[in-house]
Amino acid sequence: MTRPDATPVASHFIDGAYAEDASGTPIPVIYPATGETVATVHAATPEILERALTSAERAQAEWALADPVERGRVLRRAADLIRARNRELSVLETLDTGKPLQETLVADATSGADALEYFGGLAADVTGTSMRFGGDWAYTIRRPLGVCAGIGAWNYPTQIACWKAAPALATGNAMVFKPSETTPLCALKVAEILIEAGLPAGLFNVVQGAGEVGAALTTDPRVAKVSLTGSVPTGRKVAAAAAGGIKHVTMELGGKSPILVFEDADLEDAVSGAINGNFYSSGQVCSNGTRVFVHESLHDAFLDRLRARLGGVVMGDPLDEATNFGPITTAAQANLVMRHIATAEAEGATVAIGGARLDRAGYWIEPTVLTGLSDDMTCVREEIFGPVMSVLTFADEDEAVERANATEFGLSAGLFTSDLARAHRVVAQLRAGTCWINQYNLTPAGMPFGGSRASGIGRENARMAMDHFTEVQTVYVGMGPVESAF
Ligand code: NAD
Repeated sequence: MTRPDATPVASHFIDGAYAEDASGTPIPVIYPATGETVATVHAATPEILERALTSAERAQAEWALADPVERGRVLRRAADLIRARNRELSVLETLDTGKPLQETLVADATSGADALEYFGGLAADVTGTSMRFGGDWAYTIRRPLGVCAGIGAWNYPTQIACWKAAPALATGNAMVFKPSETTPLCALKVAEILIEAGLPAGLFNVVQGAGEVGAALTTDPRVAKVSLTGSVPTGRKVAAAAAGGIKHVTMELGGKSPILVFEDADLEDAVSGAINGNFYSSGQVCSNGTRVFVHESLHDAFLDRLRARLGGVVMGDPLDEATNFGPITTAAQANLVMRHIATAEAEGATVAIGGARLDRAGYWIEPTVLTGLSDDMTCVREEIFGPVMSVLTFADEDEAVERANATEFGLSAGLFTSDLARAHRVVAQLRAGTCWINQYNLTPAGMPFGGSRASGIGRENARMAMDHFTEVQTVYVGMGPVESAF
């Protein structure tokens, strides 16, 4: 299939227009399906960062005072434009990440549009409260934080940009967004579309670069909040740096989430949930349920169905809509995944399904299922961020809960059962920010999403994301007289 041109107009998007400074370090954009370089962008220089922050600060002061109905209208227009251009954006997402077009057409720009539409609808509904103290009273105002930094991971470049921009802009903030250096293209399109929708220049700027550009944003005194999507080690660094400036943070980090399949589960649904929670986006999803605890009575049937269903995997050209499984996004990540599989085998695991790297250009790894595991093995403890499912067995509910919780992470969890009382009893004991009962990995814009423990702080989506982009100003109103001691 002919590959469309992915070259962006320029590397950055600042103050309403594309911007370039070719003296910044070149960053190749590699199409993971073939390993070819399809574009090059340049990392932000100090001058580029300065322009981004100055324009954001200027634009935010006015935007904070704008009619929130108008703010919402702009976001909803952007949602419509994204939907109208879904195919073009999905192709770009596929070139940026390698994810198959079959998937990007329904999961990426569309999810970004949902967030813009959702927060566009809520923009005019940011309210305070009031309280009485005898004759006196007080009220609260929710104020925007100011200029916020968004820092993205490489697995969902369009969605992450929109999930951060939408609540930030709806509540009157500006955002300087730094995409992952691996997938720099999609956020530029989001910026372009926001301008086309009527967003005033400077409110959503995109700057490219690796960790040092993210670090410069995090420590800049003009930045009031940092919203990061990334790994736990990066989260620790960014949260620590932000703490130096007493800044707000939202941390959407990694996980090693459990899926519990009880003996009374609908087997086909449980297998579907485990497939979605391990192999969608070739396993590069933070909330994936990579520790699948299957009741011992179901183990063989579960594996049989899994093997049969994985026979339907098509690892072809990602731009061909018949392809349903793509490559890993980077060479380094593909190498890491293969090392994890080798370590698992060395520690005694059985590769029950898949396990091989394809002998072709690009970064292709088969969907892989590991069995014969114990909870202390590396593959069961560490986030792999690739298409590797660990299947474990359990005998009873208490054991399943205890083992599911035996991790430093706490992003997500899922369970499959036909016993509703058990479902709610178990879910209440799981230490995870986002849980699914008889479903997995669905994240509608109206549902809070995020992690507990090492997996993060704060929530994206839903009304509560707007709380994370605002702060409360309290106003005490004295109705007199004023008493004083002397
Ligand atoms: P990463 O942590 O390597 O990088 C994330 C972003 O942080 C990148 O833009 C990177 O340039 C930037 N960065 C790195 N060092 C920095 C520093 N010192 N200061 C500021 N910014 C810095 O993550 P990744 O490899 O791009 O993405 C994969 C990880 O992201 C996985 O752990 C995955 O679970 C996680 N993730 C979490 C969510 C979620 O919502 N919880 C969603 C997607 C991905």
